[in-house]
Amino acid sequence: MLLKLLGRPFRSVFTKLLLVMMAVGFLLYMVIGGLYWHVVGETRMEVYRENALKYTSYLLEELGSPPDLKVAQQITQETGLGIRFISQSSGWSTNAAIPNLEDLRHWSWKREPNVQFARKGGQMVVLRETDDGSLLFIAVQDEASIWSWLLVLLVSIALIILAAFSTIRWILRPLRDLARGVRALSAGDLEHRVPEYRTDELGRLTRAFNHMSGRIQSMLTARERLLLDVSHELRSPLTRMKVAMEFLPQDATRSMIRNDVEEMEQMITEILESARLQSQYGRLNKQSFNLTEVLQALVQEYSTRPPGVRLAHVPEDSMLYADREQVQTVMRNLITNALKYSSEDTAPVEISVESHPLQTTIHVRDFGQGIAKEDQEFIFEPFYRTDASRNKNTGGYGLGLSLCKNIVEAHDGSIAVNSIVNTGTIFTLNFPHHPEDPPPPTVKSNRMPENMS
Ligand code: ADP
Repeated sequence: MLLKLLGRPFRSVFTKLLLVMMAVGFLLYMVIGGLYWHVVGETRMEVYRENALKYTSYLLEELGSPPDLKVAQQITQETGLGIRFISQSSGWSTNAAIPNLEDLRHWSWKREPNVQFARKGGQMVVLRETDDGSLLFIAVQDEASIWSWLLVLLVSIALIILAAFSTIRWILRPLRDLARGVRALSAGDLEHRVPEYRTDELGRLTRAFNHMSGRIQSMLTARERLLLDVSHELRSPLTRMKVAMEFLPQDATRSMIRNDVEEMEQMITEILESARLQSQYGRLNKQSFNLTEVLQALVQEYSTRPPGVRLAHVPEDSMLYADREQVQTVMRNLITNALKYSSEDTAPVEISVESHPLQTTIHVRDFGQGIAKEDQEFIFEPFYRTDASRNKNTGGYGLGLSLCKNIVEAHDGSIAVNSIVNTGTIFTLNFPHHPEDPPPPTVKSNRMPENMS
């Protein structure tokens, strides 16, 4: 869990770029700094050592023999150079902060016949041996100034990283917009366009994406238009066929043709109804009605179809403010499917209703063949039928659920499926109550007495 959390930033292109940039900066610093140190730095050190040798020889003369602390203090005051005298019998130092030889053991030393140099970081020490003892010269740095430099360094690094962070974020902004665009497109929002404000590669990618969305949109619109036109045109020949059929003798062939014609008519009605609901002219005829009564009538209607339908957990009076005809269509489709995809010996289909203050929820549950997980997200798409139902030849064109979804969404509601193969399926409908809807009456009893479970 912790590893996952820690690893999350490293899955972002943004963090990776930032890290690459910082690594490149560090490596460049190492290479350039290293070369400079070895080539230029060493030559300069040579010059520095020669000068230091001459300068300290001059100071030794001035300090006298044995070296005089007072003169040393005078030099320290004038030049800022700290001096420590080390001898077997005595010793002194001009400043308590001057390290002794023990402290300098781990510094890098350069030893020459009568002088030694030690270096660590930016600090340098010159050690001179005299007949009286050793004299150590060091440019003593003020502790506070080291810390303030360190602070400046840290703040500068933080500012540089922040600037790099903002720049990369700005460069990659089109990627975030594109990700939003892809999500919108896959959610079916074909109108969504990604803002175009760049001329670089990402800008070109954005323009290509928008072009692609536009093409998909016009292709789908043309396909839908064609489907609607064909459906519309088929209505008249179908009506003529129905009239002509009346003159045919009453036999098996006639009833077969009749069934087929009715199925086609049903399909055309569903296509046209879906299109009507999606268009701006698809007005709903909303009214307040007793959902329980509608459901009871439907149970009656399907009473002869095995395995049967029953009401479970339905309030005695459940009022709904919606398009009554459309809600009936949804319920008919769901009940027909539930019966169609159950076998005769399974438990009856169950309908239940929950009236909440903000919404009414309806469940239609069957104990039939179920729907495979991979099919569940597609069954609300028009013309989608699962392999199982195609093989069984149950009839239908895969339009029922798509119409249900359109109707429920026209009411600002939602429809969802929950299913386990060979166990059963539950369709859940949610119809929200709008503030302008008449308030639902108080529920008298929230269970059908004979169906308690
Ligand atoms: P169809 O006319 O094929 O039933 P629908 O749009 O009503 O079309 O349903 C789409 C597909 O979803 C069906 O072909 C079927 O595979 C599956 N399906 C719908 N309802 C159920 C259910 N209650 N049990 C199992 N499968 C179902």
